[in-house]
Amino acid sequence: MIAIGIDIGGTSIKGAAVDSNGRVYEKFSLPFIKGEPGEITIRKLAETVKEYIGAQKLDNKIVGIGIGCPGTLDVEKGIVNYSNNLCWNELHVADIFKEILPYPVRLTNDANAASLGEAKFGAGKSYETIIMLTLGTGVGGGIIINGKLFEGNQGKGGELGHTVLVVDGEPCTCGRKGCFEAYSSATALIRETKKAMLANKRSLMWKVSPEIELVGGRVVFEAAAQGDKSAQKVLDTYIKYLGEGILNYCNIFRPNVIVLSGGIANAGDALFDPLNQYIKERNYGYQSTPEVKVVPAELGYDSGKIGAAALFFE
Ligand SMILES: [Zn+2]
Repeated sequence: MIAIGIDIGGTSIKGAAVDSNGRVYEKFSLPFIKGEPGEITIRKLAETVKEYIGAQKLDNKIVGIGIGCPGTLDVEKGIVNYSNNLCWNELHVADIFKEILPYPVRLTNDANAASLGEAKFGAGKSYETIIMLTLGTGVGGGIIINGKLFEGNQGKGGELGHTVLVVDGEPCTCGRKGCFEAYSSATALIRETKKAMLANKRSLMWKVSPEIELVGGRVVFEAAAQGDKSAQKVLDTYIKYLGEGILNYCNIFRPNVIVLSGGIANAGDALFDPLNQYIKERNYGYQSTPEVKVVPAELGYDSGKIGAAALFFE
């Protein structure tokens, strides 16, 4: 079985044919032109896919076209209701594709697509129930139960980043306060790093990043590795909030594994060792409940494409 997987992002649109073993064929991409009407972008995309399928001689082999897209979607109707990133409103993506190509089209949230990719062919491939968290500017969540993506009504569920961890806590982009995202995103880690730098001008964090505006998610990890106490404190607090949020998801879903992706997940053992220790010490039911391991994602930038195609391999 072969499907086309497409990953729509705010700077480019990437895609490829993917088979049911997770093998990725030659890739294609087109730039995302900001300000271009969404209907024109989708028409161009569908034409590109048509040419690609012809060039790869896959006409009779494609079972469908899966599309991962940021924003609020109606997955049943194949509509992007609203995407802040793409500036799209009520865009009937599936209908436009069907005018140009004879294949079924499925739409899902970009975080869900990446999660399904990891679940089927990446870090979760040996397991049935997987939770994936993408720690980036925000926090994307994906829920795979018994090998199937759980999307909720109209595909609008799975917003694990917007579950409140601290009542009346830090403001969140969603309008509430104290969301998991407001403590565990890269944005949150950078915010706390800057605060700690301003409170301690002698911290090694200033050596790692002399310009505070350029602070990234790695600064605390590098400074803490060199023994900086302020950085270590920021890191410990970050791991505490991330760990508490993950423990909530463990208690709700009891997944086999939790997969972390996004820039922060590249920190390696400096993140995963203390995080797994934190979770192990607080595992519900002590020895009687299976422990949940937190592991890094494996597919990198291909996870969205692979997962979008995998909507047809469930
Ligand atoms: Zn929120």
